[in-house]
This record gives sequence, structure tokens and C-alpha cells, in this order.
Amino acid sequence: MSTLVLDREYFINVFRDMLPFVDKESEHLQQLDSAIGDGDHGINLTIGFREVAKQLDTINENAADISTIFKKVGMLLLGKVGGSSGPLYGSFFMKAGKDVTGKNEVTFDEFCGMLLNGIESIQLRGKAELGDKTMIDAFLPGAEVLKQDSPEDPVEKFTAFVEAMKEGAESTIPLIAKKGRAMRLGERAIGHKDPGAESAWMMMEVFLKRLKEAASA
Ligand code: ADP
Ligand code: MG
Repeated sequence: MSTLVLDREYFINVFRDMLPFVDKESEHLQQLDSAIGDGDHGINLTIGFREVAKQLDTINENAADISTIFKKVGMLLLGKVGGSSGPLYGSFFMKAGKDVTGKNEVTFDEFCGMLLNGIESIQLRGKAELGDKTMIDAFLPGAEVLKQDSPEDPVEKFTAFVEAMKEGAESTIPLIAKKGRAMRLGERAIGHKDPGAESAWMMMEVFLKRLKEAASA
């Protein structure tokens, strides 16, 4: 159990950081998706988070709680982003907000629960299993870390979470895809990292950076 509490400002700051993050990584994600998909993963995320950036102040002004902020961000991604990643990340954020109605701050443990809800919804929607060469290969090892009832401090736990996701993304390199566009490539997908698994851990790293700030404040 940790005593760290995250307020809505933390989450607003994280969502504000998402656009500069995708701008920085867009080219890299495009390249990964060019190798085994259609080369639009970076652009898809840029389109989504550009919209989030545009509407974030209004969302913040009108949202009664953290739950609503997550739901609105998720709905924007779902509505604005074409491709499979929009609906998947959209439902991730929407479902991450489902248990925190009425709250304007959450404990670190509640935050871990939010992410677990989000991960579960990606699995429900996309029906991918571990080893299918998708973002699930990053999220599931991360989920195992989140579920551990460890006494470590939040930054340590969240660092381990992101690290497990990063390793999960690496683990997609030798795989044949069983879901998504890369499926059609068969063995030609071998040797390439899944773009969604890469963006997934990188996005969680944006949460980590702000978490470090929050923990030291
Ligand atoms: P699209 O494949 O439609 O062009 P993106 O390029 O934005 O969409 O996203 C591709 C990523 O989406 C893949 O790298 C993979 O991680 C993820 N993905 C695709 N299908 C699924 C699925 N069924 N479950 C989980 N993730 C998936
Ligand atoms: Mg694509």
C-alpha cells in the first residue's frame, strides 16, 4: 500500500504531455508500422492526441471528476482515430475511468486498478491473446506487475510496470501475428516489433514521468 494520491491535475498534465510525446515518436512508430502494417500508427496517434490537446481545457472545465476526464479522452480517440488503435486506446481510457466516478483524486492503488480495467477492455474488444503480436503483449506483462500487492514505493512499482511492458514489446519481434494487419504477412512479420506494443509502453512512460514529479512533490 502506498500513500501517494493523484489529483485531477496530474491526469490533465499527463494528457497534455501526450501530444508532444506522439509528435516526438511519430516517425519511429510510422516506421514500425510501415514494416508490418500500413504505416499510419504514428499519424493515428497524432490525430487522436491533437484533438485531445485541443479540447483538454474544455474537458477539464466541464468534467465533474477524473472518471469523466478519462471517458471524454477515450471517446475522442475512439471517434477521431481510424485504424484499430483508436478504438482500442479509446476503450482503454474510457474503461480506465469507470470505477472512479465522483473522485477528483485517487490513490496510487486505485490508479493501478484503473489501468487494469483499461487493459481488460483492450482484451475484450480486440480478443488478442499473449503472443499474438499486438499491444496485448506489452500490456499483459505490465498487468502482472500492477496486480502484485507489493509494498514498494509507487515510482518503483510503476517503473517496473513500464519496464515489463517494454520487454513485452521486445518479445513481439520474433513472433508471427495472429491479430491485426500484420497477420497477412505470415512469417514475413518475424523480425519486426509490433508498433502498438511499442506505443503502449511509451504512452505509459508519459504517466511515469509525471508520477515521479507527483511523488517528489
Ligand atoms: P491499423 O492496424 O488499423 O492501421 P494502427 O496502425 O493505428 O491501426 O495500430 C496497429 C496496432 O494495433 C498493432 O500494432 C497492434 O498492436 C494493435 N492491434 C491491432 N489489432 C489488435 C487486436 N485485435 N488486439 C489488440 N491490439 C491490436
Ligand atoms: Mg496501421
